Amino acid sequence: MNETSKLMLQLGRVMKKDRIRFWDTENFNVRLGKRLGKLDASLFFRTQGCRHDRSGGCTMCDYSAGPTTSVPEMIDYVRQGLDSLPSGMDSVLVSPSGSFLDTWEVPLDARNGILALLSQNQYPVIAFETRAETITEESIADCRSRIPEQMMRVYCGLESADPWVSQFSINKALEPDAFVFAMKTLAKYNMAGVANVLLGAPFLSEVELIEDAVQSIQWALAVGAKEFCLFPCHVKRWTQLEWLYGHGHYHPPSLWSFIEVLHRLGSQVVSLQGEIAWFTNYGAFNILASPTTCSVCYAQIIEQLHGFANSSDYTFIDRVYAIDCKCKEDWQEKLQTHMSNSREERAAMAYDQIGHVLYSDAWPMMRENVLTTISLAQKNTIHAKKSIFYAGEIR
Ligand code: SF4
Ligand SMILES: [Zn+2]
Repeated sequence: MNETSKLMLQLGRVMKKDRIRFWDTENFNVRLGKRLGKLDASLFFRTQGCRHDRSGGCTMCDYSAGPTTSVPEMIDYVRQGLDSLPSGMDSVLVSPSGSFLDTWEVPLDARNGILALLSQNQYPVIAFETRAETITEESIADCRSRIPEQMMRVYCGLESADPWVSQFSINKALEPDAFVFAMKTLAKYNMAGVANVLLGAPFLSEVELIEDAVQSIQWALAVGAKEFCLFPCHVKRWTQLEWLYGHGHYHPPSLWSFIEVLHRLGSQVVSLQGEIAWFTNYGAFNILASPTTCSVCYAQIIEQLHGFANSSDYTFIDRVYAIDCKCKEDWQEKLQTHMSNSREERAAMAYDQIGHVLYSDAWPMMRENVLTTISLAQKNTIHAKKSIFYAGEIR
């Protein structure tokens, strides 16, 4: 692990030290909605949390953590959650707020017990979330054998296909090869791989973040993802992003940028393979700042985005794209404005300040190494980007 990652992880641990942990008091949480016009539920259940979160986590994430949870408890919480759902559900996502296939988070017996419940309930579509590295031929073959008939969708966090953004902006610690392998393995077992893509990673200008999301989605679909889920970044409490936001290094993206990404991808891709999430804050208790527009147009925009989220009907995107507002003109002007510094310079400024705070007197000895890694990685990224974005496929 390089020094930049260590720095971001340490900042994550410092930020999370005194956090309010949702899963200390809740055993499961259910969110109801619609997908493709049919009833859809997301059921989150208590575990000790995501393994990566425990070490400091991705910069924008506070999926929270919980106390040690036994196998029978986990299965029981999922059972209670499923029992609370209205009848007639078409699709159900079951998520540990981390990785369903990481046995540190969800032990094998718990996974098997939960899959048995899902199989018994015969929902037409079942989904779970897991980090790409947790996908192996063995784990997917086993899941498929336990759910032989229902359609399965598996969400994997890609966030960005650009290695520089993945490492320095998000601290994802994801190898692109692992993502490609995951998508191919899921397809082999007739499961749909869904790439979670983030709009609004730190250190990117508004233009850069739009391009990053569009290219990441195109790359994910080219290497085997069947679908994508685009979500704009919120500033959550107890995250590295809270620190960056509080120190003037971050601001959430505009919802106009979110709409722009969907428009650039076009109706074919978006209506057949696209899903959107987190365009509102869902009333979450840990959100400090959110992507938005202005008070004049916000309600109309959210209404149209909800329309699309519920139905996958691209007419809603056409409608929202056509809305005019003064804040849209301001956003367009911002896109035209040339930034005086590069993303590497913006990142280096932030990392430098973080280093001073975390290491004080020891920082000058580490500083050059960390800041050089960020700017040298730019060159490597350009090379890597070619292999990622233009070769279409890795191995
Ligand atoms: S985004 Fe996913 S991998 Fe990253 S810390 Fe959150 S739950 Fe873990
Ligand atoms: Zn407006």
